[in-house]
Amino acid sequence: MALLPIYTVPHPILRKKAQRVDKINKNIKRIISNLVETLRHEKGIGLAANQVGIPLQIAVIESKAEKSKNGEGVLSIPLTIIINPEITKFSSQTETAEEGCLSIPNIWGMVKRPSKVIVKGLNEKGEEIEIKASGLFARVLQHEIDHLSGILFTDKADLDTLHKITPDGQRIKINLLSL
Ligand code: ZN
Repeated sequence: MALLPIYTVPHPILRKKAQRVDKINKNIKRIISNLVETLRHEKGIGLAANQVGIPLQIAVIESKAEKSKNGEGVLSIPLTIIINPEITKFSSQTETAEEGCLSIPNIWGMVKRPSKVIVKGLNEKGEEIEIKASGLFARVLQHEIDHLSGILFTDKADLDTLHKITPDGQRIKINLLSL
């Protein structure tokens, strides 16, 4: 296993649609275990393969009930590995909550998203899976699936809420041009 470097904005790989995985071979399994190790090391809750420079449709999600990088408590989500994910259903009901991204370090903003989704894809064994998710899990799935299409949360965020937190805990409003 190995830690992978996180690519940050404005790296162009973050804006390209990732390619579908045809076959789950040894190489794909190695990529998955490196993604999981990197996600845990970075204390993130979701990581898409193109965020580590691998343009394939793979994402890993996991949240332990502990503090995230912005200091807020996050709920627990069991380790979820999803390959070639597709959202097959959105709820019409939406929820607005704060998001951040390992590829846009130290920036936070409010994003409105459907509160429930159904996602289809493959697991790490190549088996078809369907995930019904709500709350934080639904949000992270949508955030990661957006990554695989080259979409970042700042594309969808309420721009008036974009801010960074300084090391001494101050909240500073920022605009997209400064990213
Ligand atoms: Zn992200």
